Amino acid sequence: MSKEISTQVVVLGAGPAGYSAAFRAADLGLDTVIIERFDTLGGVCLNVGCIPSKALLHVAKVIEEAKTVAAHGVTFGEPQIDLDKLRSYKEKVIGQLTGGLGGMSKMRKVDVVNGFGKFTGPNSIAVEGKDGTTIVNFEHAIIAAGSRPIQLPFIPHEDPRIWDSTDALELKEVPGKLLVMGGGIIGLEMGTVYSSLGSEIDVVEMFDQVIPAADKDVVRIFTKKIKKKFNLMLETKVTAVEAKDDGIYVTMEGKKAPAEPVRYDAVLVAIGRTPNGKSLDAEKAGIKVDERGFINVDKQMRTNVNNIFAIGDIVGQPMLAHKGVHEGHVAAEVISGLKHFFDPKVIPSIAYTDPEVAWVGLTEKEAKEQGIAYETATFPWAASGRAIASDASDGMTKLIFDKETHRVIGGAIVGVNGGELLGEIGLAIEMGCDAEDLALTIHAHPTLHESVGLAAEVYEGSITDLP
Ligand code: FAD
Repeated sequence: MSKEISTQVVVLGAGPAGYSAAFRAADLGLDTVIIERFDTLGGVCLNVGCIPSKALLHVAKVIEEAKTVAAHGVTFGEPQIDLDKLRSYKEKVIGQLTGGLGGMSKMRKVDVVNGFGKFTGPNSIAVEGKDGTTIVNFEHAIIAAGSRPIQLPFIPHEDPRIWDSTDALELKEVPGKLLVMGGGIIGLEMGTVYSSLGSEIDVVEMFDQVIPAADKDVVRIFTKKIKKKFNLMLETKVTAVEAKDDGIYVTMEGKKAPAEPVRYDAVLVAIGRTPNGKSLDAEKAGIKVDERGFINVDKQMRTNVNNIFAIGDIVGQPMLAHKGVHEGHVAAEVISGLKHFFDPKVIPSIAYTDPEVAWVGLTEKEAKEQGIAYETATFPWAASGRAIASDASDGMTKLIFDKETHRVIGGAIVGVNGGELLGEIGLAIEMGCDAEDLALTIHAHPTLHESVGLAAEVYEGSITDLP
């Protein structure tokens, strides 16, 4: 059975980028259709990414906090983990949010066509769904088809004990011994969850630090703490993976590589994500897709084809939900005739680990690469009353300033809730604040966010006696 519909705007993919674009387009009065291959809206982020991982990290944090207060005379005993209940909690969180999106699209009269969409020309997409083919004819299209985990040819990915992030989030079991391949944000977050649930964790990372994008001094504070929980194997890489009856045997090479293959109960491959650009028959619409599957766009999110836009993970790094949301708004607004551009000064990055590692604006590494003269100031949480009172003194707030103007150009926070605290630094950069603006802003005491003002005071020279 085949049917045909026509619309002003079609959005291919219902992740954060896609639904944000669709809702903005509808709010601007455009007739809008979403194409999504899964039954629920929300894409990777809501279904198998940001949200379920944070639900599990929340539980992991409570487990760890319960352990911490044992040292202060309050003991809860060993946690009893009911995986079925924990999974239901995670599903409930997802359901609440994806259900909300369903309601929001109905309210806006955005039609959802379920199925896999491929271009058939510059003004049409064929969607293969359970009930046959739907041809969607459009004036404008916004491609928001996202990304998927990278797989390696020498890894037997079909073995159920070899996981990607989606498998890890399914919570089928808590493996005795888990290898996390890749010390990036996703691997470390899932490692944090499974460590709290009881797994022994090894992390193998090719570079000389985990979270390679962040500055070394920031990551060092994180590493000092997680070394107690994870066995970190830096400057080491996996060269062979063999699935045997009694476990997965992993051979490694490099600085920390064990001499013999090591047996694991499960291996989480978290070595990055790859865009879905090659599965859309984009060439039939004349859209250029690069050899990795990314689609190039200009600052208005327009592809090389005038009426077709692209947003989110599929257009490049950083592959983050909040970046896609803003790009989605720009694409919809441009289509509606507004003269808007995607031109942010900063896009924050956060590892929701324990402690959290968060940074925004330029890192020192980037400032050096760009030849920018800069200065830094840090405030150690060992000097923060709130951090000490919360058993969270293993943290640091760091600000990076333009040497000449003293304007904030970057910042990082490592510590409990660092991600929540980062917002102030992002706003400071976007608004062109200098050190004095931050130092003279009265921050409440005792809070963790006062460390931002205090780091600025360190820079101004009014605090000199830090531990
Ligand atoms: P996606 O969310 O990938 O959505 C694309 C949608 O398009 C999917 O629903 C897919 O089914 C659909 N689709 C693709 N091709 C077709 C087709 N041909 N036809 C029909 N439908 C199609 N980011 C953050 O900012 N913060 C976090 O804390 C965070 N945590 C993460 C944790 C994990 C474990 C993972 C895996 C990712 C995390 N991310 C996080 C990244 C974030 O999920 C992505 O950046 C975000 O989902 C990208 O949004 P998107 O709309 O571009 O694409």
